[in-house]
Amino acid sequence: MTIAVTNLRVEDKLYQNRYVVDSGRPHIKVRPHKWPSANLFALTSVCPAKCYELNDNGQVEITADGCMECGTCRILCEASGEIEWNYPRGGYGVLFKFG
Ligand code: SF4
Repeated sequence: MTIAVTNLRVEDKLYQNRYVVDSGRPHIKVRPHKWPSANLFALTSVCPAKCYELNDNGQVEITADGCMECGTCRILCEASGEIEWNYPRGGYGVLFKFG
């Protein structure tokens, strides 16, 4: 048995993915807030697709384009109601290539 060894980095593999934007219908929404909770703030660093960021007023915003549907933000903030999380509609969202 032969095992192929590649030197591809994770970033190179992720670059192979494609994303179909569902314009005007983001599948994740952040509840309006004055200040983010610790969990909500954490999303600005734990989301692997860097979908979350702080705006100039210190509130967390999301741009769901590029979301890999990993569920990290769902685990951290859906139960508290800080985010609303749904899968994208059929035909939209991430298209995984090569893993
Ligand atoms: S599901 Fe994962 S990739 Fe998508 S926004 Fe949440 S943490 Fe980011």
